[in-house]
Amino acid sequence: MPDPRRDVPRTDQVLADPRLREAVDRLGSRLVKQTVVAAQQRCRDGEIEPGAVADVAAESLPQQAATLRRVLNATGVVVHTNLGRAPLSRAAVEAVTTAAGATDVELDLATGRRGRRGRGALEALAEQVPDAGGVHVVNNGAAALALATRVLARGGRSIVIARGELVEIGDGFRIPELLESVGAALREVGTTNRVRLSDYAAAVDDDTAFVLKVHPSNFTVTGFTSSVSVRELTGLGPPVVVDIGSGLLAPHPRLPNEPDATSALRAGADLVTASGDKLLGGPQAGLLLGRAELVERLRRDPFARALRVDKLTLAALEATLTGPAPPVAAALATRPEDLRARARAICAALPAECEPEVVDSDGVVGGGGAPDVTLPSVAIALPEHFAVPLRLGEHPVVGRVERGRLLLDLLAVDPGEDRDLIGAVTRVARREGR
Ligand SMILES: *Cc1c(COP(=O)(O)O)cnc(C)c1O
Repeated sequence: MPDPRRDVPRTDQVLADPRLREAVDRLGSRLVKQTVVAAQQRCRDGEIEPGAVADVAAESLPQQAATLRRVLNATGVVVHTNLGRAPLSRAAVEAVTTAAGATDVELDLATGRRGRRGRGALEALAEQVPDAGGVHVVNNGAAALALATRVLARGGRSIVIARGELVEIGDGFRIPELLESVGAALREVGTTNRVRLSDYAAAVDDDTAFVLKVHPSNFTVTGFTSSVSVRELTGLGPPVVVDIGSGLLAPHPRLPNEPDATSALRAGADLVTASGDKLLGGPQAGLLLGRAELVERLRRDPFARALRVDKLTLAALEATLTGPAPPVAAALATRPEDLRARARAICAALPAECEPEVVDSDGVVGGGGAPDVTLPSVAIALPEHFAVPLRLGEHPVVGRVERGRLLLDLLAVDPGEDRDLIGAVTRVARREGR
């Protein structure tokens, strides 16, 4: 028996291949070596010939140094948590690329002195919410709430909150546990479905740090319900903090039940917290908007430093606020007739063996909010067995399976991605047809 190990080309021989040498510059030697070692192992196992090791290694090189892949969101869910929530606008992506290098995030180029960090993003936010006396940005919505709680309810002071607003936000994380974890005591009032102003009034005392209103952004309670408005809560005495969740800065005509920062502030809220990567359509961030001296107190607290956003976030947030409408806003504004025209054109370009069909579909906003809203959409229906190969393809496409068919919903697909969608489906159909 010949020893197969003797025929496996040595690592340095394989790495001399020009394709792999070039890849070392792009991906670093660690990733390229790992790929070569895997190909050598396949040779040793008798799966491939010794002469094919360099070819196989070159073909299986990762596209980038990070494992995160670009995915085409054909789920019909505009803000898809598992797909990274809001996709950034092209303007935001450009801003991120620029900020990735050395940048004047904390330097005033005119004076050569230290400048206010993230001034551009904060000014853009303040401009869009003139009712906020002060604005600040932290890591995410949970961080915004944690900062407010930590500073205002330090030392076990209490937060008054309705039982129907004790929300689990996802991945097992719960708002009440978050609040307690930074030192607050909770005073729960009302029941799951109903709470009255008198319930709040009975719970408020000298130890109350603030009254918190949390928007149940991922569920609705219907039927025999009642809640108390922000305006009514402001009459109780303690500061009112409103966690609106999704990050709408002003009312949205298609989402009438979704709270927004401007309305909450006009109703008298002292502080509003929100996420940047839900309906605002920007990067992961936590927005704090409210009374100037209150926001300043939060910003200057030592804990704020632990929640600080990086320059990439500041760049993306500013471009989201000042630039063209981000993809989330564009998706919310699309009309079904436009989607139908695109779906017809895509179907016409697909091979007949896919049996593509244009169908009406129900899109949703997603983890970002408006759980009660259905967004009329249009999808391309394919046989269900396309689902897995499309997900595992070179450019992964994620749709949703409904009643034995795969639906590729166009609501969250940028029109510029239609060609990629056609390409991905065609590749699967060709492979299946072989
Ligand atoms: C999403 C959400 C949060 C958490 O925000 P993150 O940005 O995910 O940390 C908190 N409260 C509400 C009401 C939310 O909808």
